[in-house]
Amino acid sequence: MAIEKNISSKEIVEKIINSAPEEFETRNNDDEFAYIQLSSFCSNDCMYCSYSRENWTIERKRITAEEAVAEAKKQYDAGKKYILLYGGLDIFYTAEKIAAIIKKIKEECPDSVLYAAFEERVYEDYKVFYDAGADGFILPHRSANEDHFSRLHPMDMYPDFRKNVLPIIKEMGMKIGTGITVGWPYQTAEMLAEDIEFVKNLEFDLVVVDRFIPQQDTDFESFAKGDIRQTEKVRGIVSELLPDAIILSKLELC
Ligand code: SF4
Repeated sequence: MAIEKNISSKEIVEKIINSAPEEFETRNNDDEFAYIQLSSFCSNDCMYCSYSRENWTIERKRITAEEAVAEAKKQYDAGKKYILLYGGLDIFYTAEKIAAIIKKIKEECPDSVLYAAFEERVYEDYKVFYDAGADGFILPHRSANEDHFSRLHPMDMYPDFRKNVLPIIKEMGMKIGTGITVGWPYQTAEMLAEDIEFVKNLEFDLVVVDRFIPQQDTDFESFAKGDIRQTEKVRGIVSELLPDAIILSKLELC
């Protein structure tokens, strides 16, 4: 049974707490995507992420433009319709360098739908990606609750930036994508409901619903994993509220 679009926050919380995943019709478009990671270098310091600039224990990698285009073409020829080109905030990969890769991939894979995901940037960069041919941009809002966002990020990351820039990207003409992570440290059912309302109200074209997995050598490495059934339930609720959206179950960004 499809959920009514005008469902209230209270009813969403009630569904999060009392329903079962089997009650919802869930979609999953994971298999339609080619995932191309351009770089795992990042100048941000998100507390949950192993790619944080403060983590010196992991091996970083950065592929070349030629390698990125060749991999996209290979997967496109193998039948992948959607391409996700992604990476952290790597000062090597300027917006112009990324745009050149986007342009080349769109030439080589003409019917593909290309989503780019390169974190928080100045507004002009998103326009550069759009002009190069990107069909969409994924910027996970992490938490719609600003107090909660602040508990997951350092003080130099503003809790409202992502929420404010996503409508601007949409107005430019790009599709927009985000993610809902179930089981974040300090997350409540009410916060999850805020996330669901946020993706519903902004009518996202793509939503990743995954669960929190603690990563080694991060501030949250000792926290518990998100619950699988709770994650399936939230994925089902989002699938029903956004019947035309692409739904993914893994966020291959970090
Ligand atoms: S979550 Fe993204 S922005 Fe934050 S440290 Fe990881 S790669 Fe960088």
